Amino acid sequence: MQVSDTLEEFNEGLIRFIGESPTPFHASKSMAEQLAAAGFTELKESESWTLVPGERYYLLRNGSSLIAFVYGRESLIDSGIRMLGAHTDSPCLKVKPNARVISAGYYQLGVEVYGGVLLSTWFDRDLSIAGRVTFRSANGSPVSRLIDFVAPVAMVPSLAIHLDRDVNRNRSINPQEELRPLLMLADDDPDKFTFPALLLAQLQKQYPGIEVREILDFELSLYDTQRPALIGLRREFIASARLDNLLSCYLGLESILAAKGDQSCLLVCTDHEEVGSASACGARGPMLDQFLQRLIPETSDRLRALDASMMISADNAHGIHPNYRQKHDAEHGPLLNGGPVIKVNANQRYATTSETSGLFRLLCDDLGVPVQSFVSRTDMECGSTIGPITAAEVGVKTLDIGVPTFAMHSTRELAGSQDAYALMRVIRAYFARPRAPGRFDGQ
Ligand SMILES: [Zn+2]
Repeated sequence: MQVSDTLEEFNEGLIRFIGESPTPFHASKSMAEQLAAAGFTELKESESWTLVPGERYYLLRNGSSLIAFVYGRESLIDSGIRMLGAHTDSPCLKVKPNARVISAGYYQLGVEVYGGVLLSTWFDRDLSIAGRVTFRSANGSPVSRLIDFVAPVAMVPSLAIHLDRDVNRNRSINPQEELRPLLMLADDDPDKFTFPALLLAQLQKQYPGIEVREILDFELSLYDTQRPALIGLRREFIASARLDNLLSCYLGLESILAAKGDQSCLLVCTDHEEVGSASACGARGPMLDQFLQRLIPETSDRLRALDASMMISADNAHGIHPNYRQKHDAEHGPLLNGGPVIKVNANQRYATTSETSGLFRLLCDDLGVPVQSFVSRTDMECGSTIGPITAAEVGVKTLDIGVPTFAMHSTRELAGSQDAYALMRVIRAYFARPRAPGRFDGQ
């Protein structure tokens, strides 16, 4: 794959990547394929590793989290690792194990809510289903494959306003009762359709060479089939699902693909951020730490390398919404296309320090990229992300940043069409920075 050098190429790639990545599994697979095509070697956790300076590697865990690593020729202890973190998951509806629901003459799907979903945005959308299915293969062992129905096969229809005259004044949504997607009319014999049979047919369609004896289990999500698009009178915006946080995964990928190889840099994209990151492949789990232990087995060397290193946690920020200006602090209202946003919180909901943000401002300034800052209103709770988790787990100096967006956790979020590209340019400069990013003078 060629790295993107212009704004147009970058946005085209971003739109394609998000459109083809309906789940964290698909996003990780797509990133892994692009890394492999660019000469990165896959590391298997089951094997012993001999990592060599000058080489490039990647690692998958659970098929939904990924680390990419450029092993620089400079000493890790002196020069450190330039890390970028993002997350592969987005809030969505996930299919329940006994998925088929029959109600009022229709087949529907039972769904769970994954993460902080903006529920109202899931109504009246042309939905499809994608994820991972595990099945008994021809030789009896369990095998997993990704599936994606691609076509719009489901919808959660709204209730007509005539049947709920108060809906525009006060609406609450009961996720158990009101969010079940509709698949089709039920058959006279209701058992004619089963969900495992549907999955079996889809596997056979996508993988005609594989014998599927029996569906064992699945992790499937609903997603909106509307493709990402540049919108606005001047095409100044990108509208898409999963901008949080595939946008940051993609700009991280584009940055590490362009790394020259003198300095060590690392991209970590983890699953389960939207539900607190506590999992074997989440940022609260040991994935990054275990990678670093295998990279630098000797403890004091590893700690010295960590001291020289820095983590930039990239996750989207809230732009100031023209219809809800009062939701922002009057002095901190990031504009879409106003540049990347440094996120600050006194209570460590963000891990930014004056040193890590100082370095980031310097990098932006050198490139002529404008920088904005975000801090919550003092009377409002602040969200959080993988930055503080990684800082606490690994002990690396960390910065929280992101591009400003609207409608975070909607099925259709909105970002500026220039910010992701601008942030990518900054991350490329950060990855190429010769001085150890974690070493600051003073104190
Ligand atoms: Zn996020």
